[in-house]
Order: sequence, then structure tokens, then C-alpha cells
Amino acid sequence: MAWKIRYFDYPMQFNAYRKDHLRIIDQTLSKGEFVEGKSLREFEENLARFIGAKYAIGVGNCTEALLLSLYAIGISPGDEVITSSHAFVATVEVIRFLGGRPVLVDIASDHNMNVDLVEPMITAKTKVLLPVHLNGRVCDGMERLVEIARKHSLVIIEDAAQAIGARYKGRSCGTFGLAGCFSFYPGKLLGAFGDAGAVVTNDRGLAERLKAMRDHGRSHDGKVMFWGLNCRMDCLHAAILNFKLERFPHWIERRREIAKLYHKRLSKLSGLTLPPPPDQRSDHYDVFQNYELEAETRDELICHLNSKGIEVGLPWGGKALHQFPILGLKGFKLKATEELFKNVLMLPIHNGLKDEDVEYVARSIKEFYRIKTQDKILARYGDAGRENISRRAPEALLPI
Ligand SMILES: *Cc1c(COP(=O)(O)O)cnc(C)c1O
Repeated sequence: MAWKIRYFDYPMQFNAYRKDHLRIIDQTLSKGEFVEGKSLREFEENLARFIGAKYAIGVGNCTEALLLSLYAIGISPGDEVITSSHAFVATVEVIRFLGGRPVLVDIASDHNMNVDLVEPMITAKTKVLLPVHLNGRVCDGMERLVEIARKHSLVIIEDAAQAIGARYKGRSCGTFGLAGCFSFYPGKLLGAFGDAGAVVTNDRGLAERLKAMRDHGRSHDGKVMFWGLNCRMDCLHAAILNFKLERFPHWIERRREIAKLYHKRLSKLSGLTLPPPPDQRSDHYDVFQNYELEAETRDELICHLNSKGIEVGLPWGGKALHQFPILGLKGFKLKATEELFKNVLMLPIHNGLKDEDVEYVARSIKEFYRIKTQDKILARYGDAGRENISRRAPEALLPI
């Protein structure tokens, strides 16, 4: 398939600032700065400042960020971690790897963990609440989740892999709980040229522990203090991320513009349920990692868009966590998640898209629903319907 519009544009990530990237790679490597160098310390400082947290610890990826955070607070076999049903397998695999049990909570209309359903799921074994801020939107009602955690003496660890820069009531995601975990996987909002991740926290003890833990449990002088792992972030990634972080706020703004344009063009189509548009007055500052929506007759829509050269995405390949039988995540009531996964779809929203690309995607979607409506009229009225269609302007047939 010769795509006109890719879901994500990986070469653009490098080529947009090719000269700068090559210069940074040259500077970093010719100094012999490979692991544990100045660029990593600088990136950690810059990231902490950007998020508004005291400490940031660079690690190999967000899976490691989650694993180390859970390990650091002492998740042990049998402990329960309450998280969202609409999450990546990384979110639950780390719980499982420590011997814990992932407990899945159904989603609310923001596609994030439904905070109202959390309290009844708490048992004597619950240790952690692990909200996932999906698609670049902070989980609605974080202040209530913080209250619930306080009331039951639970720790909150945030999976903010998809939401760097997102805010809720002025506060950055990753700072509501004890620790926030970020991903710099190339397809994420702030992408490295390979895997990278970070934990942010305001807790000094935890920061020190995590720093040692990512380096085999060793202190600065090489003394082994406890069991650790090798979860270090390469300096090359840190140097590139330092450069990108400076430009990052503009890239978020561009994504918000694209989301606004999608909203303007598509919000009247009755076959679609869109995410809320970016709005300065809202409690939410969304960063639109994804533009995730619900679409009637989704599979047909995807075929239509593909035929137009438009590549679209399905979250996690189209299945929620509990729909992978091998994971054995059974026995949870996840009606809203199941409903969502029948119709869910993600449109291209990377910041390499031009307005005309977005217009083209929107036009192609409208065209699809126009054809559907025409088919319905024909099926119902036969030839009389055909006359009806030809007499009216095509726009008049939009299901609005
Ligand atoms: C990408 C992602 C992760 C894992 O991040 P990596 O850096 O690839 O390990 C975890 N949780 C969510 C919600 C993600 O989207």
C-alpha cells in the first residue's frame, strides 16, 4: 500500500532536524559520553523542571520506569495493583513480574480509569493505584483518586507514558502520586531514537533509590547497596531528548491545533464520538498523544480510509488487556471497555501533518458516511431514493 498519510512518520522524526541531530550525535560520541554522562544529568534536570517535579531519573524505557517504581516501594507476591483496563501490556506485565496481581478497573467516557469504580475494588491486599493517562489526557478526577489513596494508605504510581506535558487543573501528570513514569519510545510525544524512559518524583529517598537501582543497586562509589538491575538511559538518547525538549511545547501546540481542526470538521457527524477539543478554559490541558475516537461501522470506515491512502491505528492492535486470554486477566466487569473496543479507532495526529493532510482525512471520513447514508436511502426507497439523492446537494445527505 502506497500511503498518502502515514499514521506516524518515523523518518520525519530524524530528518526534520537532521543537521542538529547529527551534530549532537557527533558531539556526544566524540567525547566518549556513552553511559552516565553530563547529557543525562542535564536531561534529568531539564525534565524535572519541565514537569514541575523535584527529581527525574532517566531509565531505559517506561516499562523499566514502572518496574523500578513498583519494586522500589516493595510490591511483593500477592499484592494487588489497581489499574485501568485500557492500558498497554507493559502496565500490567511489570506488576506480574514482581508477583503482584493486576486488578482492572473499567473506563469512563475519557477512556481512562473510572475513578468512581476504584474504591469497591480495594482489598486488604491492595498496595498501589496505578492510573494510566491515555492518549495525552490526564485521568479525570485525579484529585479524588489522591483522596482515595490517602484514605486507604495506598501509593499512587502514574503511567504517564502517553501524556508528557499534559495537565489537569494546572498540575502536570506524573506529579499527583509518589512517582510518574514516562516513555520516550520513538512513537511517543517526545521520542528518542530508540527506547528511553524516566521516572519523576518529589520524594528524595525514592529518587536516590531509583538512581542506584537502575545501576545494579550501586552507589556512586560502586558499592552494592541492594539488588538492582541495569536500566540506564544511554547518553545519546539523553542528548537528543535535551534538544527536543526545548522545542516540545511547540509540538504539543501543533497537535492541539490538529485536534481542533479534526473537531471542527467532524463533530457534526452522527456516526462518530470524538474526544473533547482542546480548550484553554478546560481543567484539562490535553497533549493528544493519540486522537482516539469511536466510529460506527468502524471496520468499513478503516477499509475506506485505507483505500484513500490513509493509515489509521487501533489501540493495542484492537484488543483490550482482558481480551488476550494468555494474560489470564479474567473476572472483571469491563462493559465500557468492551463497548469501546468495538468501535475504537485512532486517526493520524503527528506533528508532521499539514493542515491539508488533516482536511483530506476529514473529507475522506465525511465521504464514507455520506456513501453509507446514500446506501441506506437507496435500500429503503429504491429508485425514489435515487432521485432524492441526485436532487439534493451531497452535503445535504450528511448524517448531521
Ligand atoms: C508506551 C507505553 C508504555 C511502555 O513504554 P516503553 O517506553 O515502550 O517501555 C507503558 N504504558 C503505556 C500506556 C504506554 O503507552
